[in-house]
Amino acid sequence: MTRLLIIGPPGAGKGTQAARISERLGVSAISTGDIFRHNVKELTPLGLEAKKYIDAGNFVPDSVTNNMVRDRLANDDVAEGFLLDGYPRTTAQVEELDRILAESGQKLDAVLQLTADDEELVQRLLRRAEIEGRADDNEDVIRHRLDLYKKETADVVARYSDRGIVTQVDGLGDIDEVTERIMDALSDLR
Ligand code: ADP
Repeated sequence: MTRLLIIGPPGAGKGTQAARISERLGVSAISTGDIFRHNVKELTPLGLEAKKYIDAGNFVPDSVTNNMVRDRLANDDVAEGFLLDGYPRTTAQVEELDRILAESGQKLDAVLQLTADDEELVQRLLRRAEIEGRADDNEDVIRHRLDLYKKETADVVARYSDRGIVTQVDGLGDIDEVTERIMDALSDLR
């Protein structure tokens, strides 16, 4: 049980929980959002390409995102396991991830779906905007990201549900509590 995906709407706390869970499990967390933001900050060609999509709350094109993930998953540190955060978020990306993993005889073991209601999510993201100043954390873009999540990412969860590997975790409550819920959910899967 070492190849994991954490999925949930923007603001559900995926990044925070991914950092904690990956540390407990001793695997690397791979956040596509973090990789993109790092590249935007460093003004790399990838960052310059991705920025316009990110700022509008749209998905970066698969041609860019898939290659970035393929490269990252070729690193030695993830040979024994990883926790993906933010990828895949379309069914085309699910298929690409299947291909990438199959090439080295791997597959995803489990999907943790963090849930939270919309208004709570919007409030959390607006609070985060004040603290972190992320360009995509303003109300219109937040609502657009939520809509996209429902439109595109629900299908991702459905794909993995068909494989019987999805476990839902309530993302409401304090951070430690949610971490314990996730750890419990993971041990139930073993
Ligand atoms: P959130 O889940 O809060 O929207 P992320 O940090 O996961 O934030 O992603 C921020 C942005 O990065 C997304 O709105 C999108 O533009 C881009 N992005 C991240 N992951 C992907 C992906 N798998 N496919 C396409 N774009 C992505």
